[in-house]
Amino acid sequence: MPVQVHPIQPAIDRVNGLRNLVGNTPLYAIDCEFRGRKRRIYAKAEHLNFTGSIKDRMAFHILRRGYETGALHPGGMIIEATSGNTGIAFSAIGRALGHPVTIFMPDWMSEERKRLIRSFGAEVRLVSHEQGGFLGSIRLSEELAAATPGAFLPRQFANEENSAAHEATTGPEIWAQVRARGLLPDAFVAGVGTGGTIMGTGRFLRDRNPEIKLVPVEPANSPTMSTGYKVGKHRIQGISDEFIPPIVKLDQLDPVVAIDDGDSIIMAQRLASELGIGIGISSGCNLLAALQVQDEMGGDATVVTVLCDDNKKYLSTDLMHAEPVKDGFLSSEVKLLRFRALNRMCDACFDPGDPDGAPVHLGRA
Ligand code: PMP
Repeated sequence: MPVQVHPIQPAIDRVNGLRNLVGNTPLYAIDCEFRGRKRRIYAKAEHLNFTGSIKDRMAFHILRRGYETGALHPGGMIIEATSGNTGIAFSAIGRALGHPVTIFMPDWMSEERKRLIRSFGAEVRLVSHEQGGFLGSIRLSEELAAATPGAFLPRQFANEENSAAHEATTGPEIWAQVRARGLLPDAFVAGVGTGGTIMGTGRFLRDRNPEIKLVPVEPANSPTMSTGYKVGKHRIQGISDEFIPPIVKLDQLDPVVAIDDGDSIIMAQRLASELGIGIGISSGCNLLAALQVQDEMGGDATVVTVLCDDNKKYLSTDLMHAEPVKDGFLSSEVKLLRFRALNRMCDACFDPGDPDGAPVHLGRA
Protein backbone atom coordinates (compact mmCIF):
# COMPACT_ATOMS: atom_id res chain seq x y z
CA MET A 1 0.00 0.00 0.00
CA PRO A 2 1.42 3.42 -0.89
CA VAL A 3 1.95 5.69 2.12
CA GLN A 4 -0.72 8.41 2.28
CA VAL A 5 1.03 11.77 2.44
CA HIS A 6 -1.04 14.48 4.09
CA PRO A 7 -0.78 17.65 1.97
CA ILE A 8 0.41 19.60 4.99
CA GLN A 9 3.57 17.46 5.26
CA PRO A 10 5.67 19.29 2.64
CA ALA A 11 4.95 22.55 4.47
CA ILE A 12 5.95 21.04 7.80
CA ASP A 13 9.14 19.72 6.17
CA ARG A 14 9.94 23.24 4.99
CA VAL A 15 9.36 24.62 8.48
CA ASN A 16 11.64 22.01 9.97
CA GLY A 17 14.29 22.99 7.43
CA LEU A 18 14.42 26.45 9.03
CA ARG A 19 14.63 25.21 12.60
CA ASN A 20 18.36 25.67 12.96
CA LEU A 21 18.14 29.31 11.87
CA VAL A 22 15.87 30.42 14.69
CA GLY A 23 16.80 30.64 18.36
CA ASN A 24 19.59 28.73 20.07
CA THR A 25 21.54 31.96 20.25
CA PRO A 26 24.76 32.48 22.21
CA LEU A 27 24.53 34.11 25.64
CA TYR A 28 26.82 37.12 26.02
CA ALA A 29 28.48 37.80 29.35
CA ILE A 30 28.98 41.58 29.27
CA ASP A 31 31.50 42.86 31.79
CA CYS A 32 31.37 46.50 32.83
CA GLU A 33 31.68 48.88 35.74
CA PHE A 34 28.49 50.51 36.93
CA ARG A 35 28.58 53.15 39.64
CA GLY A 36 32.23 52.26 40.20
CA ARG A 37 31.63 48.51 40.78
CA LYS A 38 32.48 45.57 38.51
CA ARG A 39 29.32 44.04 37.03
CA ARG A 40 28.39 41.25 34.68
CA ILE A 41 25.11 41.13 32.77
CA TYR A 42 24.05 38.13 30.68
CA ALA A 43 22.30 38.93 27.41
CA LYS A 44 20.90 36.63 24.72
CA ALA A 45 22.30 37.54 21.29
CA GLU A 46 18.93 37.66 19.54
CA HIS A 47 20.32 39.83 16.75
CA LEU A 48 21.92 36.62 15.45
CA ASN A 49 18.57 35.07 14.50
CA PHE A 50 17.67 34.36 10.84
CA THR A 51 16.31 37.86 10.08
CA GLY A 52 18.25 39.64 12.81
CA SER A 53 15.72 39.82 15.61
CA ILE A 54 14.08 38.00 18.48
CA LYS A 55 10.78 38.02 16.57
CA ASP A 56 11.94 35.10 14.42
CA ARG A 57 11.21 32.87 17.39
CA MET A 58 7.59 33.98 17.58
CA ALA A 59 7.00 33.98 13.79
CA PHE A 60 8.53 30.55 13.33
CA HIS A 61 6.59 29.06 16.24
CA ILE A 62 3.24 30.60 15.25
CA LEU A 63 3.55 29.45 11.63
CA ARG A 64 4.53 25.94 12.68
CA ARG A 65 1.62 25.77 15.14
CA GLY A 66 -0.63 27.19 12.42
CA TYR A 67 0.13 24.19 10.21
CA GLU A 68 -0.24 21.78 13.11
CA THR A 69 -3.65 23.15 14.15
CA GLY A 70 -4.91 23.57 10.59
CA ALA A 71 -5.35 27.36 10.99
CA LEU A 72 -2.67 27.98 8.34
CA HIS A 73 -3.01 26.38 4.93
CA PRO A 74 -0.08 25.99 2.54
CA GLY A 75 -0.06 29.06 0.28
CA GLY A 76 -2.53 31.05 2.44
CA MET A 77 -1.94 34.79 2.89
CA ILE A 78 -0.27 35.84 6.15
CA ILE A 79 -1.56 39.22 7.38
CA GLU A 80 -0.08 40.97 10.42
CA ALA A 81 0.14 44.34 12.15
CA THR A 82 3.63 45.13 13.39
CA SER A 83 6.12 47.83 14.29
CA GLY A 84 8.71 46.18 12.07
CA ASN A 85 10.67 43.19 13.28
CA THR A 86 7.61 40.97 13.31
CA GLY A 87 6.88 42.06 9.76
CA ILE A 88 10.41 41.26 8.67
CA ALA A 89 10.25 37.86 10.38
CA PHE A 90 6.85 36.90 8.93
CA SER A 91 7.85 38.18 5.49
CA ALA A 92 11.11 36.23 5.28
CA ILE A 93 9.90 33.06 6.98
CA GLY A 94 6.53 33.33 5.21
CA ARG A 95 8.26 33.56 1.83
CA ALA A 96 10.58 30.67 2.72
CA LEU A 97 7.41 28.64 3.28
CA GLY A 98 5.75 29.88 0.08
CA HIS A 99 3.14 32.28 1.50
CA PRO A 100 2.13 35.75 0.28
CA VAL A 101 2.47 38.24 3.14
CA THR A 102 0.75 41.60 3.82
CA ILE A 103 2.03 43.79 6.64
CA PHE A 104 0.26 46.77 8.20
CA MET A 105 2.56 49.13 10.06
CA PRO A 106 2.58 52.68 11.46
CA ASP A 107 4.13 55.02 8.88
CA TRP A 108 6.66 56.47 11.36
CA MET A 109 8.71 53.26 11.66
CA SER A 110 12.25 53.32 10.22
CA GLU A 111 12.69 53.33 6.45
CA GLU A 112 14.91 50.24 6.68
CA ARG A 113 12.08 48.25 8.21
CA LYS A 114 9.69 49.13 5.37
CA ARG A 115 12.27 48.42 2.66
CA LEU A 116 13.34 45.14 4.22
CA ILE A 117 9.77 43.89 4.40
CA ARG A 118 9.24 44.84 0.75
CA SER A 119 12.51 43.16 -0.19
CA PHE A 120 11.09 39.89 1.13
CA GLY A 121 8.27 40.16 -1.38
CA ALA A 122 5.66 41.27 1.14
CA GLU A 123 3.16 44.07 0.63
CA VAL A 124 3.51 46.91 3.14
CA ARG A 125 0.44 48.99 4.01
CA LEU A 126 1.40 52.10 5.96
CA VAL A 127 -0.99 53.46 8.57
CA SER A 128 -0.78 57.12 9.66
CA HIS A 129 -1.53 58.60 13.08
CA GLU A 130 -4.80 59.89 11.61
CA GLN A 131 -5.75 56.36 10.47
CA GLY A 132 -5.21 55.10 13.99
CA GLY A 133 -1.47 54.30 14.07
CA PHE A 134 -0.83 51.04 15.83
CA LEU A 135 -4.37 50.26 16.83
CA GLY A 136 -5.45 51.23 13.31
CA SER A 137 -2.93 48.74 11.89
CA ILE A 138 -4.43 45.96 13.98
CA ARG A 139 -7.97 46.88 12.96
CA LEU A 140 -7.08 47.07 9.26
CA SER A 141 -5.25 43.74 9.38
CA GLU A 142 -8.34 42.12 10.89
CA GLU A 143 -10.57 43.63 8.24
CA LEU A 144 -8.37 42.39 5.40
CA ALA A 145 -8.15 38.91 6.93
CA ALA A 146 -11.93 38.74 7.25
CA ALA A 147 -12.24 39.61 3.55
CA THR A 148 -9.48 37.24 2.32
CA PRO A 149 -10.34 33.53 1.99
CA GLY A 150 -7.68 31.28 3.54
CA ALA A 151 -5.91 34.20 5.26
CA PHE A 152 -3.92 33.61 8.44
CA LEU A 153 -3.76 36.31 11.08
CA PRO A 154 -1.02 35.60 13.65
CA ARG A 155 -2.25 38.40 16.00
CA GLN A 156 1.01 38.65 17.87
CA PHE A 157 -0.44 41.00 20.52
CA ALA A 158 -3.19 38.61 21.57
CA ASN A 159 -1.89 35.18 20.55
CA GLU A 160 -0.70 33.12 23.51
CA GLU A 161 1.49 31.18 21.04
CA ASN A 162 3.70 34.29 21.02
CA SER A 163 4.67 33.84 24.66
CA ALA A 164 4.61 30.04 24.18
CA ALA A 165 7.45 30.45 21.64
CA HIS A 166 9.63 31.97 24.35
CA GLU A 167 8.50 29.50 26.98
CA ALA A 168 9.59 26.70 24.64
CA THR A 169 12.89 28.21 23.51
CA THR A 170 14.25 31.43 25.07
CA GLY A 171 13.50 30.31 28.63
CA PRO A 172 15.04 26.83 28.35
CA GLU A 173 18.09 28.21 26.53
CA ILE A 174 18.75 30.85 29.21
CA TRP A 175 18.22 28.30 31.96
CA ALA A 176 20.67 25.85 30.41
CA GLN A 177 23.29 28.46 29.54
CA VAL A 178 23.22 30.09 32.97
CA ARG A 179 23.11 26.76 34.79
CA ALA A 180 26.15 25.61 32.81
CA ARG A 181 28.08 28.29 34.66
CA GLY A 182 26.84 27.03 37.99
CA LEU A 183 24.49 30.02 38.39
CA LEU A 184 20.76 30.52 38.83
CA PRO A 185 19.05 33.39 37.01
CA ASP A 186 17.91 35.84 39.74
CA ALA A 187 16.20 38.29 37.38
CA PHE A 188 15.04 38.45 33.77
CA VAL A 189 14.63 41.94 32.35
CA ALA A 190 13.03 42.80 29.00
CA GLY A 191 11.47 45.74 27.21
CA VAL A 192 7.82 45.05 26.45
CA GLY A 193 6.34 45.31 22.97
CA THR A 194 3.83 42.50 22.64
CA GLY A 195 5.11 41.12 25.96
CA GLY A 196 5.77 37.69 24.44
CA THR A 197 9.41 37.72 25.51
CA ILE A 198 8.91 38.66 29.16
CA MET A 199 5.78 36.54 29.68
CA GLY A 200 6.96 33.32 28.00
CA THR A 201 10.61 33.39 29.06
CA GLY A 202 9.47 34.48 32.51
CA ARG A 203 7.00 31.64 32.83
CA PHE A 204 9.68 29.03 32.10
CA LEU A 205 12.27 30.59 34.40
CA ARG A 206 9.85 31.17 37.27
CA ASP A 207 8.75 27.53 37.07
CA ARG A 208 12.39 26.58 37.72
CA ASN A 209 13.20 29.40 40.18
CA PRO A 210 10.07 30.77 41.87
CA GLU A 211 12.16 33.57 43.42
CA ILE A 212 13.19 35.06 40.08
CA LYS A 213 12.30 38.69 39.40
CA LEU A 214 10.63 39.31 36.04
CA VAL A 215 11.08 42.95 35.18
CA PRO A 216 9.22 44.62 32.30
CA VAL A 217 10.82 47.74 30.82
CA GLU A 218 9.32 50.78 29.11
CA PRO A 219 10.56 54.17 27.89
CA ALA A 220 10.61 56.76 30.71
CA ASN A 221 9.61 59.48 28.25
CA SER A 222 6.62 57.58 26.87
CA PRO A 223 5.24 55.04 29.32
CA THR A 224 2.36 52.68 28.61
CA MET A 225 2.39 49.99 31.27
CA SER A 226 2.60 52.30 34.26
CA THR A 227 -0.16 54.56 32.94
CA GLY A 228 -2.42 52.04 31.17
CA TYR A 229 -2.29 54.06 27.96
CA LYS A 230 0.45 55.62 25.85
CA VAL A 231 1.87 58.98 26.86
CA GLY A 232 4.02 61.04 24.47
CA LYS A 233 6.54 59.74 21.93
CA HIS A 234 9.75 57.74 22.16
CA ARG A 235 12.48 56.34 19.94
CA ILE A 236 12.84 52.78 21.25
CA GLN A 237 11.22 51.05 18.29
CA GLY A 238 9.68 47.71 19.20
CA ILE A 239 8.56 48.48 22.74
CA SER A 240 5.73 50.46 24.36
CA ASP A 241 3.39 50.61 21.42
CA GLU A 242 0.04 52.25 22.12
CA PHE A 243 -1.65 49.98 24.62
CA ILE A 244 -0.99 47.17 27.07
CA PRO A 245 -1.26 44.01 24.94
CA PRO A 246 -3.66 41.30 26.13
CA ILE A 247 -0.85 38.76 26.61
CA VAL A 248 0.88 41.02 29.16
CA LYS A 249 -0.18 40.10 32.70
CA LEU A 250 1.30 42.81 34.88
CA ASP A 251 0.14 41.03 38.05
CA GLN A 252 2.57 38.19 37.21
CA LEU A 253 5.49 40.58 36.80
CA ASP A 254 7.64 42.75 39.06
CA PRO A 255 7.37 46.55 39.00
CA VAL A 256 8.07 48.24 35.66
CA VAL A 257 11.48 49.87 35.14
CA ALA A 258 11.58 53.00 32.97
CA ILE A 259 14.60 54.00 30.89
CA ASP A 260 15.04 57.20 28.86
CA ASP A 261 15.16 56.74 25.10
CA GLY A 262 18.23 58.99 24.69
CA ASP A 263 20.03 57.00 27.37
CA SER A 264 19.13 53.79 25.48
CA ILE A 265 20.48 55.25 22.23
CA ILE A 266 23.79 56.18 23.86
CA MET A 267 24.13 52.71 25.41
CA ALA A 268 23.39 51.02 22.08
CA GLN A 269 25.88 53.28 20.30
CA ARG A 270 28.56 52.48 22.86
CA LEU A 271 27.95 48.72 22.71
CA ALA A 272 28.74 48.99 19.00
CA SER A 273 31.61 51.48 19.10
CA GLU A 274 33.33 50.16 22.24
CA LEU A 275 32.62 46.41 22.15
CA GLY A 276 31.63 45.74 18.53
CA ILE A 277 28.14 44.55 19.45
CA GLY A 278 25.91 46.02 16.70
CA ILE A 279 22.43 46.08 18.21
CA GLY A 280 19.30 48.24 18.17
CA ILE A 281 17.99 50.82 20.64
CA SER A 282 15.83 48.48 22.73
CA SER A 283 18.95 46.40 23.45
CA GLY A 284 20.71 49.46 24.89
CA CYS A 285 17.57 50.07 26.93
CA ASN A 286 17.53 46.48 28.20
CA LEU A 287 21.18 46.58 29.25
CA LEU A 288 20.62 49.77 31.28
CA ALA A 289 17.49 48.34 32.89
CA ALA A 290 19.36 45.12 33.72
CA LEU A 291 22.14 47.11 35.41
CA GLN A 292 19.61 49.12 37.40
CA VAL A 293 17.78 45.99 38.54
CA GLN A 294 21.07 44.32 39.47
CA ASP A 295 22.08 47.43 41.42
CA GLU A 296 18.82 47.31 43.37
CA MET A 297 19.40 43.60 44.07
CA GLY A 298 22.83 44.26 45.54
CA GLY A 299 25.18 44.07 42.56
CA ASP A 300 25.96 40.35 42.52
CA ALA A 301 22.63 39.04 41.26
CA THR A 302 22.63 37.02 38.04
CA VAL A 303 20.59 39.21 35.74
CA VAL A 304 19.69 38.15 32.21
CA THR A 305 18.29 40.24 29.40
CA VAL A 306 17.98 40.16 25.60
CA LEU A 307 19.68 41.99 22.74
CA CYS A 308 16.55 42.09 20.60
CA ASP A 309 17.79 43.06 17.16
CA ASP A 310 20.78 44.27 15.15
CA ASN A 311 21.67 47.86 14.30
CA LYS A 312 21.22 47.59 10.54
CA LYS A 313 17.58 48.68 10.70
CA TYR A 314 18.55 51.95 12.37
CA LEU A 315 20.98 53.45 9.86
CA SER A 316 18.57 56.31 9.12
CA THR A 317 17.62 56.94 12.75
CA ASP A 318 18.99 58.81 15.77
CA LEU A 319 21.07 55.73 16.58
CA MET A 320 23.54 57.04 13.98
CA HIS A 321 23.67 60.60 15.37
CA ALA A 322 25.33 62.15 18.42
CA GLU A 323 22.81 62.07 21.26
CA PRO A 324 22.87 64.77 23.94
CA VAL A 325 23.78 63.49 27.41
CA LYS A 326 21.26 64.52 30.05
CA ASP A 327 21.51 64.64 33.84
CA GLY A 328 20.63 61.35 35.43
CA PHE A 329 21.50 59.19 32.40
CA LEU A 330 22.56 55.75 33.59
CA SER A 331 24.88 55.28 30.59
CA SER A 332 27.15 58.01 32.02
CA GLU A 333 27.81 55.69 34.97
CA VAL A 334 28.65 52.65 32.80
CA LYS A 335 32.16 51.74 31.75
CA LEU A 336 32.07 48.87 29.26
CA LEU A 337 35.00 46.48 29.69
CA ARG A 338 34.60 43.40 27.49
CA PHE A 339 32.26 40.61 26.59
CA ARG A 340 32.43 36.97 25.73
CA ALA A 341 29.93 34.76 23.95
CA LEU A 342 28.92 31.61 25.80
CA ASN A 343 28.09 28.45 23.87
CA ARG A 344 25.03 27.80 21.86
CA MET A 345 23.45 24.52 22.86
CA CYS A 346 23.77 21.34 20.86
CA ASP A 347 20.67 19.18 20.41
CA ALA A 348 21.73 16.88 23.20
CA CYS A 349 22.37 19.71 25.66
CA PHE A 350 18.95 20.19 27.03
CA ASP A 351 16.21 17.76 27.78
CA PRO A 352 12.95 19.65 28.27
CA GLY A 353 11.53 16.55 29.94
CA ASP A 354 14.15 16.80 32.69
CA PRO A 355 12.51 18.83 35.45
CA ASP A 356 15.88 20.04 36.65
CA GLY A 357 16.80 21.09 33.13
CA ALA A 358 20.49 20.47 33.68
CA PRO A 359 22.45 20.79 30.44
CA VAL A 360 24.43 17.75 29.48
CA HIS A 361 27.06 18.81 26.97
CA LEU A 362 27.23 22.55 27.38
CA GLY A 363 30.79 23.57 28.12
CA ARG A 364 31.71 26.14 30.72
CA ALA A 365 32.93 29.25 28.99
N1 PMP B 1 12.79 45.20 20.86
C1 PMP B 1 12.54 45.17 19.55
C2 PMP B 1 13.53 45.81 18.62
C3 PMP B 1 11.39 44.55 19.06
O1 PMP B 1 11.15 44.53 17.74
C4 PMP B 1 10.48 43.97 19.97
C5 PMP B 1 9.25 43.31 19.44
N2 PMP B 1 8.13 44.15 19.38
C6 PMP B 1 10.77 44.04 21.34
C7 PMP B 1 11.94 44.66 21.75
C8 PMP B 1 9.82 43.51 22.38
O2 PMP B 1 9.57 42.13 22.31
P1 PMP B 1 8.14 41.53 22.68
O3 PMP B 1 7.21 41.89 21.55
O4 PMP B 1 8.36 40.07 22.80
O5 PMP B 1 7.69 42.16 23.97
